[in-house]
Amino acid sequence: MSVSDLEVSRGQPSARRSTRTVRVGRVAIGSGAPVVVQSMTNTDTADHIATAIQIAQLARAGSELVRITVNNEDAAAAVPRIRDQLERMGVDVPLVGDFHYNGHKLLTDHPACAEALAKLRINPGNVGAGVKRDTQFASIIEIACKYDKPVRIGVNWGSLDQSVLARIMDGNAKRAVPRDAGAVMREALVTSALESAAKAEEYGLAGDRIILSAKVSSVQDLIAVYRDLSARSDYPLHLGLTEAGMGSKGIVASTAALAVLLQEGIGDTIRISLTPEPGGARTQEVVVAQEILQTMGLRAFTPMVTACPGCGRTTSTFFQELASEVQTYVRDKMPIWRDRYDGVENMTLAVMGCVVNGPGESKHANIGISLPGTGETPAAPVFEDGVKTVTLRGEKIASEFVSIIEAYVDRTYQKKNVTA
Ligand code: SF4
Repeated sequence: MSVSDLEVSRGQPSARRSTRTVRVGRVAIGSGAPVVVQSMTNTDTADHIATAIQIAQLARAGSELVRITVNNEDAAAAVPRIRDQLERMGVDVPLVGDFHYNGHKLLTDHPACAEALAKLRINPGNVGAGVKRDTQFASIIEIACKYDKPVRIGVNWGSLDQSVLARIMDGNAKRAVPRDAGAVMREALVTSALESAAKAEEYGLAGDRIILSAKVSSVQDLIAVYRDLSARSDYPLHLGLTEAGMGSKGIVASTAALAVLLQEGIGDTIRISLTPEPGGARTQEVVVAQEILQTMGLRAFTPMVTACPGCGRTTSTFFQELASEVQTYVRDKMPIWRDRYDGVENMTLAVMGCVVNGPGESKHANIGISLPGTGETPAAPVFEDGVKTVTLRGEKIASEFVSIIEAYVDRTYQKKNVTA
């Protein structure tokens, strides 16, 4: 076999598997629509000012839907006030109400809450027990139909409908070769989601007003559950590894699970359930969700900065500082650039630490800089679209590089027609 016979194929995400499109306010979910980024607040919903502020932060970070818990009378009463406050702040992100146990009552007693929400999320395991379960579920679906709101039927293994689980376990016990406990639990999750969706349609909710999710906190179980759910239905699917955890563990586990599914065309909206570090920003979950989608080539939100890890060849922390400064700069500038220029979110940048991979990697980016490593001449060549355009030296490398980025953006990306 000659070298020319060898072919290395590039991976390509499959087309979305869902075939229905659900409209949530102005956002389309499912079928061929771009995968939507969601987030959830952690404020007390009854505090409508604090909640509106956090929703605005999440929306400005790029969250396209924001979920809020509606857990009691005060929270339900606050929802229309939150919507009004957001309008005053110029934020029109659709809101999703998260209901458990008393959703039927809150939505009945607070019609303004139902109206202000763009979508309802209900958990079949927490709708009610025994005979009340069906009537309370039906009552929520009736309200969704009355106000024309889509519904996410969100199953979670932490609150799995026990009647479904018991039925699946009974059936399993009668099998010649019973399946293991994990398989039984996964089947119960998928069954609960599918049966609840069928019941919602029976109660009058249109099939294109339903989104499903079935969340677990184990990566392999999540992949297995969603593959099964996707094979057995064509509703749009909301993906998320529930209770992903804190810091790098939460990010890595969520990415590992979601990347496999998204690559297979499974998943139409995503949320990253990170536990914020004490004092940490809630918006981190939005950044992680965007970065998963962007690094997979599914969507583009903000110019991406490629940087080498550094090694014994790097002379100082300057290159790490520059990489961080550039990443922060483009993220901060993005709201302005997005309004002014078409396609700027696709720009790629490289900040590299020495001559070994610096010029090569920089040439692959739209704009790259190769800083001098140990023993190199103190000069930093800059490459624009693969061509060396200038060499920076001295104390002002960072500010000069940022100016080069600004000039590149202005002359490369089409200006939008912005009316004053
Ligand atoms: S580009 Fe240079 S400094 Fe960066 S990791 Fe590679 S060898 Fe080290």
